[in-house]
Amino acid sequence: MKTLRLFLGDQLNSQHSWFDTVNQDITYVMMEMRQETDYVTHHIQKIVGFFMAMRQFAEELKQKGHQVAYITLDDEINTQSLPQNLLWLIQELDIEQFEYLLPDEYRLDLQLKNFCQNLAIPSKAFDSEHFLSQRDELATFFKGKKTFLMENFYRMMRKKYNVLMDGNEPTSGQWNFDADNRKKLPKDHRPVEPLVFSKNVDDIVKLLSQSGVSFIGNIDAKNFLWPTTRQESLALLAFFLENCLPQFGTYEDAMHSSYWSIYHSRLSFSLNLKLLHPLEVIQKSVEYWEQHQDTITIAQIEGFVRQILGWREYMRGIYWAKMPEFAQMNFFGHDRKLPSWFWNGQTKMACLRHAITQSLDYAYAHHIQRLMLTGNFMLLAGIHPDEADAWYLGIYIDAIEWVEITNTRGMSQYADGGIIGSKPYVGSANYIDKMSHYCGNCFYDRNKKTGDKACPFNSLYWHFFERNRNLLEKNPRIGMSYVTLNKMAQNQRQELLKQADFYLEHIEKL
Ligand code: FAD
Ligand code: SF4
Repeated sequence: MKTLRLFLGDQLNSQHSWFDTVNQDITYVMMEMRQETDYVTHHIQKIVGFFMAMRQFAEELKQKGHQVAYITLDDEINTQSLPQNLLWLIQELDIEQFEYLLPDEYRLDLQLKNFCQNLAIPSKAFDSEHFLSQRDELATFFKGKKTFLMENFYRMMRKKYNVLMDGNEPTSGQWNFDADNRKKLPKDHRPVEPLVFSKNVDDIVKLLSQSGVSFIGNIDAKNFLWPTTRQESLALLAFFLENCLPQFGTYEDAMHSSYWSIYHSRLSFSLNLKLLHPLEVIQKSVEYWEQHQDTITIAQIEGFVRQILGWREYMRGIYWAKMPEFAQMNFFGHDRKLPSWFWNGQTKMACLRHAITQSLDYAYAHHIQRLMLTGNFMLLAGIHPDEADAWYLGIYIDAIEWVEITNTRGMSQYADGGIIGSKPYVGSANYIDKMSHYCGNCFYDRNKKTGDKACPFNSLYWHFFERNRNLLEKNPRIGMSYVTLNKMAQNQRQELLKQADFYLEHIEKL
């Protein structure tokens, strides 16, 4: 039976069972579309990375003997809409049956379901064979529970896949080494130079500008840095294991103005496009650790496994348990617009200037830069979660809604009212200075809370707690902040709030 099988840009899983045999009755289709380049303003490296990876994936399939229809952005038959392109192909190729892999995005899931409902030929959806938990597994696991504790889900996943386990107990008797993993980079410590892939992507960059696609960020079209094939992704994994894993956990939360990825893996793009399978990343990492236990402590490997087996699967489960309501949540009722310097990095705050400029240059910031710099500022300043989502969904190369929105609206902005985090992740200059080297070179003074050049994070921090007293004061995990706030002399508190109001009024000038 003549079959059309669709691959979306984030479904580049060459190990999928669809490819176990070569069948000339099956045509695989992939498409570059304005529907996808335009649903948010993306970083140019993100669009280029997706298109490059899709093109190479299609080429590999052809070389293996599969029939492939690849529709480029400027193809004259391209209607720029997924359903319209599919209908055209079905007619053109006399297709008798349509198959697709379950999308990871609610938007596309709905679009394809609707499309299939109205289709005259039979259709079927298949698992993408990528994730380690089923779409509804988290919802079933937490059924009847008020809170969705990541730690509980993670422990279940460790047992299920027998990762770092001795029978039913965690290897070395401890589940979690987070407390060991919070060090600042020592003064003269130089992390390893990141492995990058210098590829020429001139033709895609030209295509985007000729097509009038809007984008943000910078790109060196002769030296594209990101892996776009499975082979390159495996090389990045091998590089990570040898050079970064020994220090991964220790400096996981560290930030530095001279280094953009420190010991982070930068594997999120490869993982999210499914060029790598999460289980192979975990198994190879654990194997590497087992062979190098003299130089790699359990805290490093557990920290890494937790991110992929824990956080990544957990976020996906939350997404499917809570969408589409999740995308509307705004617990604090925040409504401020994102200041324009988020799009160009032109702020006097050294920490945010670096995190934003780096994001524009590399389409990447590591977790703590996202959570405790940009996200922290947005939350303290009361930015509308829609604005936060649009920025994060656009700017990062790894940003796909299922993992972006849960991290942004949930973990970072607490707009879900505590489904993901048991308290908002906020910090003042004290935290940022403890974990980074930004404050020494800043226009603002980390030690000042009010007055000339006082660090904005300091007054905004207390303003956040004061204005959200009704919503947060009873949270047992935040009690101490209110004890401190309540003990403050009345005039000191007023000064702090006045300072924060002034900064919020002049947010564009910060
Ligand atoms: P590493 O630090 O090396 O971690 C290894 C892997 O673990 C990552 O590649 C990733 O697959 C996984 N991982 C780590 N933390 C998380 C997490 N919190 N949620 C899910 N997976 C995790 N991640 C995305 O993949 N796409 C996003 O759009 C995205 N948006 C984010 C927005 C905010 C506000 C925050 C706070 C975090 C976001 N994250 C997102 C999670 C995390 O920051 C990135 O996965 C990580 O920075 C990617 O870099 P890395 O590959 O070097 O990660
Ligand atoms: Fe950031 Fe404040 Fe430190 Fe400046 S002083 S780098 S604004 S935390």
